[in-house]
Amino acid sequence: MTTASLRNTAPTRRRRAFIGYVAAVIGVGGVTTAITLLTTPLVWHGLSTVPAAVWLLAALAIGVELRPLLPPGARYSQAAMISLSFIMALLLMWGYLPALIVQTIVTILIFTQLRATSWRIAFNAAQFALALTASHLVLLAFGVSSTTLIDEGAGLGPLLLAGLAWFLTSHMLVSMVWALREGVSWVRMLVRSFGPEAIVHAAMLALAPILAVAATSQTWLVLLASVPIYAVYRMARLSVDRERVALSDQLTTLPNRKGFQELVEANLLRSKVSGAKLAVMVCDIDRFAAVNNSLGHDVGDRLLLELTRRFRSCFDRPHEVVARIGGDEFAFLLAEIPGVEYAKRRAGCLQSALGASVVLDEVSLDVSGAVGVACYPDHGEDFDALFRHANVAMAEAKKRGSGIAVYAPEFDHHSPQRLALLGDLRRALDTPGLPGVELYYQPQVDLNTGEVLGVEALLRYRHPVQGSVDPGDLIALAEHSSVMRLLTYRVIDEAVGQLARWRADDLELRAAINVSVRDLHAPDFCDYLTERLAHHEIPTSQVQLEITESALMADPRRVIATLKRLEAMGIGLSLDDFGTGFSSMKHLRSLQVSEVKIDKSFVLGMKEDPDAVAIVKSIIELGRALSLRVVAEGIEDEATWRHLVTLGCDTGQGWFHARPMPAEAFVSWLRRYQPPPPPRKIRDAPAPVAKLA
Ligand code: C2E
Ligand code: MG
Ligand code: MG
Repeated sequence: MTTASLRNTAPTRRRRAFIGYVAAVIGVGGVTTAITLLTTPLVWHGLSTVPAAVWLLAALAIGVELRPLLPPGARYSQAAMISLSFIMALLLMWGYLPALIVQTIVTILIFTQLRATSWRIAFNAAQFALALTASHLVLLAFGVSSTTLIDEGAGLGPLLLAGLAWFLTSHMLVSMVWALREGVSWVRMLVRSFGPEAIVHAAMLALAPILAVAATSQTWLVLLASVPIYAVYRMARLSVDRERVALSDQLTTLPNRKGFQELVEANLLRSKVSGAKLAVMVCDIDRFAAVNNSLGHDVGDRLLLELTRRFRSCFDRPHEVVARIGGDEFAFLLAEIPGVEYAKRRAGCLQSALGASVVLDEVSLDVSGAVGVACYPDHGEDFDALFRHANVAMAEAKKRGSGIAVYAPEFDHHSPQRLALLGDLRRALDTPGLPGVELYYQPQVDLNTGEVLGVEALLRYRHPVQGSVDPGDLIALAEHSSVMRLLTYRVIDEAVGQLARWRADDLELRAAINVSVRDLHAPDFCDYLTERLAHHEIPTSQVQLEITESALMADPRRVIATLKRLEAMGIGLSLDDFGTGFSSMKHLRSLQVSEVKIDKSFVLGMKEDPDAVAIVKSIIELGRALSLRVVAEGIEDEATWRHLVTLGCDTGQGWFHARPMPAEAFVSWLRRYQPPPPPRKIRDAPAPVAKLA
């Protein structure tokens, strides 16, 4: 997709003004040209009377435009008209008609090569015709003609004014189109769109009188005078090519990061006007470095070329761009899309392009990659935001192993809002007496008897402006920062202090405290816990630590020493959200786990999903076989509770018994608590309830 093709349709907003303006320029251009032609006497009668120099100038004008000079990725600039010297020489020496004919042919040639629509070609032909008319009128006004130019030596002023008239008329007319397209003021656009072609045009206009004089004295002198024109053309071409190289990747010839950025920005401008959505996708190839290292860079290059071929054939629709933005990173632009779901479907197509293995040097390579998607306007308004968010989503897809992820703010630990939230949390933890951080307690009960065995301490944070923040989100945010340590130490301090206060009121309870696996990496973690327990005279058996299965199993060896120390201290370890990670039986044994907590997603699913029941059942059986206590979390109703009891689950927690609540509310709840009648008689003795003073 080129920026030129973007200009082929009328904008959605200011559409009527845009179409009206384009039609007016075409109309006025046509009428003015007709009047000028009618009032200009014909110099020649028949083609045979046309001088050879005119044919030569016309041929050179057309010849140099066979490869139009379009500044790459240019948002406003139009093609620089290299043939302008020849056209102006024709105007100066042989008048309006031959110059107009050649200029119109050249315009059609340039804009057909740029794949412009017929209305755009008509507009540009009218725009240049009006520019030529303006130039012609200046020459007429100053009485400049071929005779005055050669015999009397016309002054520099009229010639400069004629050149200026051409350039200004053309520039003003086209700037208005861009102004209407983007919805900015015409004057602003006049200044903003003053592109590099202005210098080329100035050089071409300056060379026109020399060419004109040369053409009338000796035809072959035209060829000599064309040499500087060729030099200007070559220099302009080289700078264009250099710019093009700077915008593309050498190996694949795809746009590089800078080129991609320019294309996205050009499309964003258009989307802002039309209201259309667009998506930026980033794909990172997995283990590409390993291919380079083990099979060599040549194989790596061939793999990239094959992937480029697949991506190109996958994203070949109008308004789709494939770019290579780094060693093994590709980016995709999908403009004019209906919405996020569409982008996600197209990302799926990308995954299937990666899916088939690539055979290179008889080695079959299985390629995979993670894709991140960010959409305008939902996930960002400018290139930087969209690109960054697509990368954040890609990192999330990699982390989850899900292949594709669409950006969501919670993936982004570094967005300004999340960093501000983290700062506020740090302040709330650092400043004694500042409200906001609190612990709620959810009872854990013996499912057979209804006895309250203990509580799980759950963090609550109320932000002064945002209100309650989801604890899961907050932990995910804090976990990657030094705030996590402050948070865990506050939770330990608060929970152990609460146990001591309850103990003073004759209420003996066990508390389960959630900790992050990173907390266990800290060398002073056990010391801090020991010190707090000793300070409040709480036996270690009254505290249990919960750690999520997925976090612990990601790198179990790193925390073995801490876990051994905790076991020696008599502090139990519970594997939280069990069933969502990948525990190996070996690790369950070696990590001194005393309890597993069935993830609430399975417990919640028990009523409708037989698979969830099968998973819950097998976890209970596993727990029994390994002598581990099994706790079910997320028991929301009586049916689930009864079902868990029949499956042999000992302990549970959930909204059916009680929701998490502040410490005082928990005590009132406990006073009122009546254990539900046992679903089946397991024990003869009546259910003992934790005693309150
Ligand atoms: P978790 O440790 O698995 O905690 C259980 C979650 O299930 C709690 O969510 C609890 O409110 C919720 N829950 C309990 N019963 C039911 C029920 O019947 N139905 C439903 N739908 N949900 C129920 P919460 O409080 O939002 O905490 C979310 C997660 O945040 C916790 O999951 C834990 O991983 C983390 N977290 C909470 N507090 C702390 C903390 O102090 N430190 C650390 N490291 N993580 C914490
Ligand atoms: Mg927990
Ligand atoms: Mg859990």
